[in-house]
Amino acid sequence: MKPPGPVLAVAGLAKSFGGVAAVAEVTFAVASGEMLALIGPNGAGKSTCFNILSGQLRPDRGEVLLGGETITGLPPRAIWRRGVGRTFQITATFASMTVRENVQMALLSHHRRLWRFLRPARSHFADEADALLAPVGMEDQAERCAGELAYGDLKRLELALALAHAPRLLLMDEPTAGMAPSERGGLMALTRRLAAERDIAVLFTEHDMDVVFGVADRILVLDRGRLIAEGSGAEIRADANVRAVYLGSGATSGGH
Ligand code: ADP
Ligand code: MG
Repeated sequence: MKPPGPVLAVAGLAKSFGGVAAVAEVTFAVASGEMLALIGPNGAGKSTCFNILSGQLRPDRGEVLLGGETITGLPPRAIWRRGVGRTFQITATFASMTVRENVQMALLSHHRRLWRFLRPARSHFADEADALLAPVGMEDQAERCAGELAYGDLKRLELALALAHAPRLLLMDEPTAGMAPSERGGLMALTRRLAAERDIAVLFTEHDMDVVFGVADRILVLDRGRLIAEGSGAEIRADANVRAVYLGSGATSGGH
């Protein structure tokens, strides 16, 4: 049985920088296992929203509820402890360690054990690490140095690192930035599959509209700090207001 209520509920969130309302009265919720896309033009306030939710920024107003409990204004570490994961800017990998060791580190951190006391015993959580590498398709590269990985493989490792903390909510601010267009859809489809299997709510932003429409269950559109639309891909595509401020003529490629 699913827990009652949304995993994340945000009400009346507001944040200004020197008189500029980066986020203004933003209200939405994310359900367990749901892929919710937050889209909008550059400067719309997407990253500011993510930074408030992860605790990097304090909102001027509004409330953030995780599983019905307020996390508004808590520091990042406390929010992370409560099950809010973040890719891919925070989970820096250790280039000189192997892929498996990176996941072991994340598992040790999740279980509040200290790596330095355990070295050189590198068997800790090895099986658990492999159990996280398999679903992201990285089990064959477990012995490789993370620093040698191709960019797309590094992204999949970072997804495994996020999963090591068993998050209930995963925040992904432009997770496919820097990836080849052909790889973006694959990473987000993988994220979608794992989120559904593990009942993780995912809030993400992504510039490639084919990817957004392909994987999002629901889409929020932000413009100058305000939510201007919310709905399914079909509803968002048909929204005249959204087309005017964001999707415009060329943004929806391929005749969608
Ligand atoms: P997005 O991620 O949608 O591109 P941001 O949240 O980064 O948008 O930015 C929203 C607005 O807030 C922009 O006008 C940006 O210049 C401003 N802004 C964001 N962060 C800061 C900051 N730390 N200091 C001042 N202004 C900021
Ligand atoms: Mg941004």
